Amino acid sequence: MFKGHREHPDFKGLGTVPVEGLPETMLAAEVHEFNKPYTIHQVPTPKSLDPYDLLIRVAVASFCHTDALILSGGLESTPSGFSGSHEPTGTLYAMGSAAATLGFKLGDRVAAEGWRDPCGQCADCKGPNSVHHYCKYMKGFVGSTLPGAFQEYTVVDARFSVKLPDQLSFETAAPLTCAGATAWRAVKTAIQGVERGQWIGIVGSGGGLGHLAIQFAIGLGFKVLGVDARDQGLALSKKAGATLVADARTGREELLKHITEATGGPLMAASIVLSDHVTASETACAITECHCDVIQVAQPPEMVVIDFREFIFRDIRLKGSLLASQEELQEMIQFVVDHNVQVETRLYKGLESLHEIVEEAHKATFAGKMVVAVNVEEVEKDQQLKRL
Ligand SMILES: [Zn+2]
Ligand SMILES: [Zn+2]
Repeated sequence: MFKGHREHPDFKGLGTVPVEGLPETMLAAEVHEFNKPYTIHQVPTPKSLDPYDLLIRVAVASFCHTDALILSGGLESTPSGFSGSHEPTGTLYAMGSAAATLGFKLGDRVAAEGWRDPCGQCADCKGPNSVHHYCKYMKGFVGSTLPGAFQEYTVVDARFSVKLPDQLSFETAAPLTCAGATAWRAVKTAIQGVERGQWIGIVGSGGGLGHLAIQFAIGLGFKVLGVDARDQGLALSKKAGATLVADARTGREELLKHITEATGGPLMAASIVLSDHVTASETACAITECHCDVIQVAQPPEMVVIDFREFIFRDIRLKGSLLASQEELQEMIQFVVDHNVQVETRLYKGLESLHEIVEEAHKATFAGKMVVAVNVEEVEKDQQLKRL
C-alpha cells in the first residue's frame, strides 16, 4: 500500500462483494527474494471485491523494465511477495458494485493500467480525468505494491481500465497499457503548441516505448528524429518509420551537424526522453530549439542530469510525464487500431517461461516487449480470429 492511502468515499456506502465460483488457488509468479527467479507456486484466489474492482482472468501479461527493477531490489528495500506485471489484458470474470456504472459487463475483453483505488477526494481526483492517476493517496500499483498480472486471476481498477476493440489481440494490447500509454501521453504533451509537420525528437527511440512513440508522432502528422545508442535500437527506430535516425554514440557535435543538415537548419520543436542513460536528458536538450519543451519520461537510477548551459542559456522547458489516464489509454488504443500501429512483442507461453524472460532481459538484446500468455487458450483464439 502507498504511504498515506485514503479510502475512497464510495467504499463506505457500497462495501465489498464476495467472489464466487473461482477455484481455491491459482498459479502465480511472485517476488520473494531479490536477484532470484520468481517463485512460481499456487496462491489463494481473490475472495472479495471493492466497488471499482474488476476481477479479470488474465490472458496476457507483459514484462516491463519496472519488473526487472523490482526483481533486482531497485525500487523497494524488501521484496513485495506479490506477483509481478502491471500490464494485463484478460476477460472480466467478476466486478465490484460500482464498476457496472462505468459500462463494464462480465465477459468483456479488457486492458488495465496498474493504478488501484484513488482517494476520490483530492485535487487530482476531482480534476480532469487526465490527472486522476496522480492521486497522492492511491492504494497502490498492481505488480508492485499490490498483486500483479503474473497470476491466473487478478484485480484491476475499473477507473483505469478499458474495453478492448474486437480487432485488437490480448498480446498486442498488454504492452499498450504501460509502454503505449506512457508513450502516448508523452507525445501528446510534446506536441502541445507545436504545428503539424514540425520535428519531434525522441531520445531512446528504439525500445519498447520508443518504437510506439515514433509511430504515434508520425501518425499525428509530425516528422520524427529517432536517437538511439544501440544497433538494435537504431534498426527498430527505422523499422517504426522515424523520418531520420541518429546514433548518439557519435557525440554531440556530430549529432547536431547530422540533424541540421537533414532538417535544413532547425532543431527539434520538442523532444522526449525515453532512455535512462545518464546523458540522455542532456542530449534531448541539445537537439531541441531554444524556448521549446523537453518531456522527461525515463527514470534514471540516480537523477536527471543536464548541463545548465544546455538548459538555462537556451531556455529549454523540462516537463515530466507519467503513464497516462484512462481517457488517454482509450484514445491511444483506438489510434493503434485506426493507424495499424505495429507493437513489437515476443510471446512466451505460460508463467514458467518467466525464468527465460528474466535472463533475456539481462542480456538486453531484444528491443521490443516480452509478453507472457498466462492463458494460452485465449491467445490461440485471438490468433485464429486474426486479431491485430
Ligand atoms: Zn510498465
Ligand atoms: Zn486522490
